[in-house]
Amino acid sequence: MAVSQNGWPVNPPRSSRTVPGTNVRIVVADGPAGDVLMYVLSQFDKRVEDLDQGADDWGYANRPIRGGTATSNHASATAADANATRHPLGKRGTFTGPQVAEIHRILSEVDNVVRWGGDYSGRADEMHFEINAPHSRVAAVATRLNGGGNPSPPDSGSGGRATLKRGSSGADVALVQRFLGLKADGIFGTDTESAVKRYQSRQGITADGIVGPATWARITSGLGGAVPGTGGGTPTPTPPGATLKRGSQGPAVTTLQRRLNAWYPAYSHLTADGIYGAGTESVVKEFQRRAGLVADGIAGPRTLAALKL
Ligand SMILES: [Zn+2]
Repeated sequence: MAVSQNGWPVNPPRSSRTVPGTNVRIVVADGPAGDVLMYVLSQFDKRVEDLDQGADDWGYANRPIRGGTATSNHASATAADANATRHPLGKRGTFTGPQVAEIHRILSEVDNVVRWGGDYSGRADEMHFEINAPHSRVAAVATRLNGGGNPSPPDSGSGGRATLKRGSSGADVALVQRFLGLKADGIFGTDTESAVKRYQSRQGITADGIVGPATWARITSGLGGAVPGTGGGTPTPTPPGATLKRGSQGPAVTTLQRRLNAWYPAYSHLTADGIYGAGTESVVKEFQRRAGLVADGIAGPRTLAALKL
């Protein structure tokens, strides 16, 4: 059986899947290799750089390694290229130091069964991620990411998300954590559980710490930034130039969110929905810490000035 450079069979059963949290679809191998690549790409999108820019994210391709004779891992559908045009083959330094650190954190979350082309000792390929471990190790990681249950079907889409609770792990857990302003390590532990309970009680639903359909519905509706005590009535938009904080709404918040995303793609991946919720507060705090401002999560005159707003 023909194999690619990493020992995985070429032209395997494969599917087009949507990278969770994006509109990007790429073809990857069915089974654990594809599951793990999807996790890495979704975390890349959330924590390193937006994938939804340009149609330059690639998976399966039956070809030799460019400029080489070995069969590319793209031929076994166990490799993916992220934002290829921004990270051209052979070029080093296309990511910032913090972005590189975040990439390595993501890979450590999958027990380094995925290798990044930026870590090649020879010709760099910073767009490129590939499975670099045998099936048994990759399967173990995929099982953990899938919460120990059945592997996710190809392209499960955004609806019908699995219930998450203490002990769950994976991309959806990281999504919930980001939403709640927690460290997005993808592992549902006691801190995540407590934060989910607090969120649920603010939302007036059963505070059981389990992210089931009702909690998912609120989170995916994006209302969730949702602010204690805004129930009822249309919120008054915050005027431009005014201090923005948790609970603020309107175009000034959208502008702030867009500015943070555009200028700080390494850590800001906010939905520009004009609602200043936990996620926006958390990114503002991160910005303030890095800018040497008081990290209170409130975008007052100094913070807005530092963002040229
Ligand atoms: Zn590649």
